[in-house]
Amino acid sequence: MDFNKLKEKGLEYVEKGRLAAADLTEKGRIQTRILTDQAKLIRAQRQLGVLVYSLAKGNEENQPLVDKYIDMIGAIEQEIAQLKAKLTPAEVQEVERAVADVEIDPADVMDQTEDEAEPMETAGADHCCPQCGAPVEPGSLFCNKCGAQL
Ligand SMILES: [Zn+2]
Repeated sequence: MDFNKLKEKGLEYVEKGRLAAADLTEKGRIQTRILTDQAKLIRAQRQLGVLVYSLAKGNEENQPLVDKYIDMIGAIEQEIAQLKAKLTPAEVQEVERAVADVEIDPADVMDQTEDEAEPMETAGADHCCPQCGAPVEPGSLFCNKCGAQL
């Protein structure tokens, strides 16, 4: 086998592949970021709901922590708006259709987390705040005790 010929051919393909990918890069990167942000947004909203519910149930208050979630949600929403502004209306529509699929994902992710929490020892270690060591709910974005971002 002529190794040099093969290498040349391979490089040619790589070059072509890179050019094709470059066409998609800008639009694709923005759309991917919107999808990622959208998933983060849904997760943050869900966690805020869980937090507010558990606070209300325990008749507790933790406004600084609630504010952190609200700030985070606001920042994500702002980023999504900025990203959408860079796309054409047709491209935004395309992303919004994909977002409809993504909205199912966080639940799947949460189910997976619960499945992975099987061995008790590791589960305990995984769900401690790295900052203060307090136990944290799986999926929490902030520590309920010290407010550190997880
Ligand atoms: Zn903490």
